[in-house]
Amino acid sequence: MPWITRGLSEGIVTTRYPRRPDGYGPDFHGTLLVDPGRGVDRATERAIGECPTGALSVVDGQVEVDRGRCVLCGRCATLQPEVFRFDPSFDHSTIGRSALHVRGGAEDEETLAWIRSGLARRTKALRRSVHIRHVDAGSDGSEEWEIAALTNPVYDVGRLGIFFTASPHHADILLATGVGTVGMATPLRTTYEAMPHPKVVIAAGVDAASGGMVGPGYASRGGIGDVVPVDVYVPGSPPSPFGLLHGILLAVGLVGTAGNRGTTGRPGGRADRPRPQGTHPQGPASAVEPGDRTEAGEA
Ligand code: SF4
Repeated sequence: MPWITRGLSEGIVTTRYPRRPDGYGPDFHGTLLVDPGRGVDRATERAIGECPTGALSVVDGQVEVDRGRCVLCGRCATLQPEVFRFDPSFDHSTIGRSALHVRGGAEDEETLAWIRSGLARRTKALRRSVHIRHVDAGSDGSEEWEIAALTNPVYDVGRLGIFFTASPHHADILLATGVGTVGMATPLRTTYEAMPHPKVVIAAGVDAASGGMVGPGYASRGGIGDVVPVDVYVPGSPPSPFGLLHGILLAVGLVGTAGNRGTTGRPGGRADRPRPQGTHPQGPASAVEPGDRTEAGEA
């Protein structure tokens, strides 16, 4: 009885994303932004040196953040808030590892278009329904919590035709987490090879992209990229459920890269906040109805 009254009082909690923008509100640490107009002063140099994962560097006199290494610890934003700050948006999954290097547009557009069209051709058959095989290749467990949330009533990925499967023979997407431990290299590779074509690999989280705080070492491959061919990278440590959902939809060509404005549409939590002008590297919002026949990147 209490559950019935609670359900009636709360109403529908399931997100409409990607049909409508959604998110976690203005205080969410979705990604790190670097002010492109600022030079590199002493405070910025100190912040760069204090980054625990080496995610920050100076390229051609501009600060560059590698979102594939940034664990969103906030140290740089604390030391130099005039240059580094967080943005609440979550849709920063990328096609290709290089697109995670951000300093106002570091991506090679020609290469990106070529990768994107190839991925779109491969995944055209997957847009109605996909099955995901998740493999933990040395995760700390945080990504698994977020992945598990995808099936709860708020995200309910089943409404989009996204399902998890225990068998690689039934899987279209390999969702890999963790630093790519040496011991998990063979199981990860075997899982990939057991999947039918077409198949897509998503590296979920900074650990899977680069090894994160652990990095490469005697027991870690520094990410899964040299074990299986990665198509889509989802930054974050861990990536949020919305971030993971964006990565999955990007992989099958149902959304484009970047653009969500970090709003939350859940009852009691809507908090619109315009994206800071001139700071986003990847362009305007783009989201389409699941099932629309659009090519990846055109959505
Ligand atoms: S927030 Fe990211 S870039 Fe900044 S110090 Fe932490 S890991 Fe490094």
